[in-house]
Amino acid sequence: MAKLSVYKTVMVQFNKAADLMGLDPEIRKILSMTTNEIEVNFPVVMDSGCVKMFTGYRVQHNNVLGPYKGGLRFHPAVNIDEVRALAAWMTWKTAIAGIPYGGAKGGIQMEPWEYSRGELERITRRFTFALGSNIGPEYDIPAPDVNTNSQIMAWIMDTYLQMMPPQERNRSVHVVTGKPVESGGSLGRTKATGQGLVYVLEAWAKEHGFNLDGATYIIQGFGNVGSWAARLLKPLGAVLVAVEDHSGAMVNPDGIDPDALAEYVAAEGRIQGFAGGEPVDHQTFFSTRADFFIPAALEGQITAETAPWLNVRLVVEGANGPTDIDGDRILREKGIELLPDVLMNAGGVVVSYFEWLQNKRSEMWDLEEVDAKLVKQILGAYRRVRDAVRKYGTDWRTAAYVVALGRLERVYKERGIFP
Ligand code: NAD
Repeated sequence: MAKLSVYKTVMVQFNKAADLMGLDPEIRKILSMTTNEIEVNFPVVMDSGCVKMFTGYRVQHNNVLGPYKGGLRFHPAVNIDEVRALAAWMTWKTAIAGIPYGGAKGGIQMEPWEYSRGELERITRRFTFALGSNIGPEYDIPAPDVNTNSQIMAWIMDTYLQMMPPQERNRSVHVVTGKPVESGGSLGRTKATGQGLVYVLEAWAKEHGFNLDGATYIIQGFGNVGSWAARLLKPLGAVLVAVEDHSGAMVNPDGIDPDALAEYVAAEGRIQGFAGGEPVDHQTFFSTRADFFIPAALEGQITAETAPWLNVRLVVEGANGPTDIDGDRILREKGIELLPDVLMNAGGVVVSYFEWLQNKRSEMWDLEEVDAKLVKQILGAYRRVRDAVRKYGTDWRTAAYVVALGRLERVYKERGIFP
């Protein structure tokens, strides 16, 4: 099969679930398209004094359940097709998680590592200015994604607030989530995506006789999602035996310490050079024998080429869209179970919702409260998807879509289509 674009991959997944559940054909038309697609070209003065033009995107997929919500990515592969796909996944994810948000995504096509801190700040602020009122605390709320973090969110918030009358600034800090805690962020947000993944994996493991204590795993991507998932799996006794990031891959059958590696990556920005493992190539990494694999980098990693290499029992998607349609099919043929992105990485947007609520109410929750609420919310999502797996006798990805589409369909039917 020819390689599909990322958005077409979403549509194949969507149509499979829509067919299975008999989604209303009129609502299917609406959910098959994005609502708004914003593309901005904007100039930024570089440290050299030269001006450079950048292209940024914000795609708002659907907001029938609440304000548009989704991350911003700074990466050279950002393009309109990818952002559309990521926005649609956000619509499904917030619906599955049972939180009152729609789906959006955005980003800038750029190599963030090529710019100084000052340039990054000016690029971020100028992008925010260019987006203008296309984002807003009750309208469209960005968050961190690949190569963006709490510092970038603080700059976005600050820029957005500068564009408001002074009286309105303090009640608009929830224009972004994933902020530093001192600037209105929530405790527990940084680890939330990895934490949600681990809570759901634990629940699934318990129900499927899969012992995490002593289980081996490999992980691709050791950024926010990957490193936190690994660090939180350590106390459960799971052993990291191979890891890959943009700089290369390494294996160690005796185990790689996630805490030491996270410290190294925080200092060096890459896993390459870490003393705790033997460097290996991409194929050797993918072929490493382990109990499970957590892709936590980019989309389109488990494909017709790489899926045959995998030597695991389970794939736990931390990244968005790491498995393409061929990859999914090959995993099924090989009898490898898959827990999908729209469920497994929903912890991040759930705690983003908690941050948004705290900002709106001028509250500050302690970490225990955040974690207790996260576990309740994410396990509710897990049970809804598990029940759909049983009811429809289907795979976990399709079941997750059925849960999302069912909720969206109910709301459209209640509200009707204007006029
Ligand atoms: P990040 O920028 O913190 O980390 C990305 C990681 O991927 C880095 O370790 C990087 O080296 C690695 N990587 C990049 N290109 C690679 C390549 N070609 N091969 C192997 N590794 C590569 O990003 P993140 O926030 O951890 O996001 C990772 C994934 O999780 C993305 O798909 C993102 O959309 C998804 N996600 C993130 C969040 C969040 O809260 N940050 C929430 C939900 C989903």
